[in-house]
Amino acid sequence: MGPCKFHFSQMLLPDGWARDVGIETDDAGMITAVLPGAAGAGESLPGVAVPGLANVHSHAHQRAMAGLAERSGPGADSFWTWREAMYGFALKMRPEELQAVAAQLYVECLKAGFTSVGEFQYLHHQPDGTPYANRAELSLRCLEAAREAGISMTMLPVLYAYGGFGGQAANAGQRRFLNNQQGFQAIIAEIASSLRGHERMGIAPHSLRAVTVELLREVMTEAGPVHIHIAEQIKEVEDCLAFNGMRPVEYLSSEFDLNARWSLIHATHMNARETSGLAASGAHAALCPVTEANLGDGIFNGVDYMSAGGAIAIGTDSHVSVGAAEELRVLEYSQRYLTRARTVLSGGAARSTGRNLFEAALAGGARSIAQPASGIRVGQRLDAVVLDDEHPALIGRKGDGILDSWIFSGGSACVRDVIAGGKIVVRDGHHAREAEIKTKFAAAMKRLQE
Ligand SMILES: [Zn+2]
Repeated sequence: MGPCKFHFSQMLLPDGWARDVGIETDDAGMITAVLPGAAGAGESLPGVAVPGLANVHSHAHQRAMAGLAERSGPGADSFWTWREAMYGFALKMRPEELQAVAAQLYVECLKAGFTSVGEFQYLHHQPDGTPYANRAELSLRCLEAAREAGISMTMLPVLYAYGGFGGQAANAGQRRFLNNQQGFQAIIAEIASSLRGHERMGIAPHSLRAVTVELLREVMTEAGPVHIHIAEQIKEVEDCLAFNGMRPVEYLSSEFDLNARWSLIHATHMNARETSGLAASGAHAALCPVTEANLGDGIFNGVDYMSAGGAIAIGTDSHVSVGAAEELRVLEYSQRYLTRARTVLSGGAARSTGRNLFEAALAGGARSIAQPASGIRVGQRLDAVVLDDEHPALIGRKGDGILDSWIFSGGSACVRDVIAGGKIVVRDGHHAREAEIKTKFAAAMKRLQE
């Protein structure tokens, strides 16, 4: 593919909305020119174009069980009973099935407004816990799935060594996840030698339950983003307090110099000091509001965190549903439940809530997974989502009203065309390979549910 030219009738640029925008890219999809007023140049995409967002927190294999954990059990259901159901599914999945499930998921991500994904990949070994001949087999399957779908991936292989604080032994259900330092570094080396184009890598110490700070320090020598689950559940806070008298975010902050390299996944349960400290650190709170609602995690303190200038990113995590607009909507709604107010995260008076949330997730998301797609400007990658301005939710909407109506009303159904890495991957609501990818997904799902 050579350099490309596109023409957008309306587009959200870093300094605001513009009409008749011409964009030129090089053959890697990087923007080489932004030409407002360049009517008629290049392939024309009518509608309203906005930058593509990063989905910074994905567990692709969990897409296979979306909706299957909604039947009540004999006792009280919780995150921990859901986790047992998830382990059951994770233990069955074969490499080609993971690839099929992940490819389906990534097509869904693109069609829902995400153009890059951070894959927090913790399924490493064979069902009996023995490593595959290539120790990174399952991570490479996810990378292959991302290539099939045409989404830019940051692979975040997970270091999972223990079953609880202080290096407790893991349980049998976790056998596919476990690595010591050497095993983990072998996975990293395999992935690093396989990356192409816009693919990036970081590391994902699973949680402070699954790694010790000593082990984490050993693997921090690798470059790239660091993602860690933290303070998602009250039980984790209680276990951490019992272990060393500190809360999880307090403990992590006391051991490491948190900065923009870090993303703290969920960070649901923080006290006021942890909230202001994290906001000032430059690290990201990677929020997954739909999954957090589904799992009964609790509500992130978005009001104090964002008003203190804290960086956010969003992810679809368990993929119980997949949508960029939906995650931002539920993030705002969680704050409305809590404060009994409206337009809570608008960032000030007379501002659009949708625009404020969208821009926070755009900048934070790209930085969180080290993808060069933080907006439509020269030197960034052309990742764009064209919304259908004839969709009933968007008819007659102007400027930031388009973002508000997409996020709070129309949702993913408004997405018409998607450009990822400078290539059109979704056209008129359809992904070029969606039929083939769905057929493989269906075969995998059939066997997994036998
Ligand atoms: Zn997660």
